[in-house]
Amino acid sequence: MTGAASPIWHPCTQHALQPQMTPILRGEGAYLHASDGRRIIDAIASWWVVTHGHCHPPIVQAIQAQAERLDQVIFAGHTHEPAEQVAAGLLELAPPGLTHVFFSDSGATCVEVALKMALGYFRNIGEPRTRIVVMQHSYHGDTIGAMSVGARGVFNAAYEPLLFDVAVVPFPAAGAEQAALDALAAICKRDRPAAFIVEPLVLGAGGMLTYPASVLREMHRICRAFGVLFIADEVMTGWGRTGTLFACEQAEIAPDIACYAKGLTGGALPLAVTLCNEAIFAAHLSTDRARTFFHSSSYTANPIACAAACANLELWRRPETRARIGSLAAAQERCLARFRYDERFSDLRRCGTITALDVQAEERGYLAEVGPQLQAFFRDSDVLLRPLGHTIYVMPPYCVTPGDLDAIYSAIDEAVDHVL
Ligand SMILES: *Cc1c(COP(=O)(O)O)cnc(C)c1O
Repeated sequence: MTGAASPIWHPCTQHALQPQMTPILRGEGAYLHASDGRRIIDAIASWWVVTHGHCHPPIVQAIQAQAERLDQVIFAGHTHEPAEQVAAGLLELAPPGLTHVFFSDSGATCVEVALKMALGYFRNIGEPRTRIVVMQHSYHGDTIGAMSVGARGVFNAAYEPLLFDVAVVPFPAAGAEQAALDALAAICKRDRPAAFIVEPLVLGAGGMLTYPASVLREMHRICRAFGVLFIADEVMTGWGRTGTLFACEQAEIAPDIACYAKGLTGGALPLAVTLCNEAIFAAHLSTDRARTFFHSSSYTANPIACAAACANLELWRRPETRARIGSLAAAQERCLARFRYDERFSDLRRCGTITALDVQAEERGYLAEVGPQLQAFFRDSDVLLRPLGHTIYVMPPYCVTPGDLDAIYSAIDEAVDHVL
């Protein structure tokens, strides 16, 4: 805020190219208020976490009340009401067959937990399966294990020697769905893998790539047939983003393991969960202490974060919340339509409340120069959008108004004119 250089090293930020951060004082609904008085529309829900809106009153109140009662307690050997309520509420809302809830604090961590559960399961039932199958272009977080099951690229080239080897199924792009399914079946048969981890319906960081529920359903069937555990990473797709509470609902499948984070607290506090089925829990249940699930983090099931999650679950029990998703999805479709026959764009796509489109720039991919150029233009237009290379996407909090959406899409229109 002053002229002095800040000692902070920001995430995914090249400080040599972007020395100035925007200081934010306040958040309210779909807006962020900057210290210079600007009001910025948060069109990417502050990195996909804010669902109902910033500082949503029922969530704020739950946090305030819990902070005065119990702030933190060791979760080994102890429990508390907010965690019990979150777990019970999740099992009511999640796909059937998931019976146990393990808490952690970020998307990457709940993925690590999922992978450890899968390997622990096979070890404990005496079947030597350790290989993991992943989908091309996937993203599951930035810790070593989560990077190992994600796409390799510029983001993790330096750490490549530390990443474990996985089997990769091609992305089921339009027209290539059967090839992807055949590849999954062939790997399952050949490698006898432990698990397949996948982002259901939308690959987020990989470029907001969408594929149909029928393909997800078929991938689940193949895994079943070969005894391969199916891990649904719903860290981004959960909490209404794809039009249903969880994306797996659209394929009518019940994963063996499900990962939820980001919108679990409505975006107010970090909290994550890994849900698993009875067989996986039972494989760890033993009087033999060597079979314990050895995973913990200091803040496991932090009571304040759990209270925020309780308030979020309560909101999802209300029909108005689900109705809001439907009307936002329809509004997003109408907004996207203005670019349908526009030669500056290709691959217009929408999944639930998320839209994405590719800019017909010469250079493509995550490091395409058009990305930062567009972002700079958006910043000057008071719209928070962060293109993934040449892909622009809109993933707003659910409280955006038609007027806000209009401003977002007008900014896209102008920004692309400006950079092309
Ligand atoms: C964001 C994301 C993660 C990682 O979540 P963090 O909370 O940032 O660690 C994992 N999986 C998917 C699909 C994500 O979109």
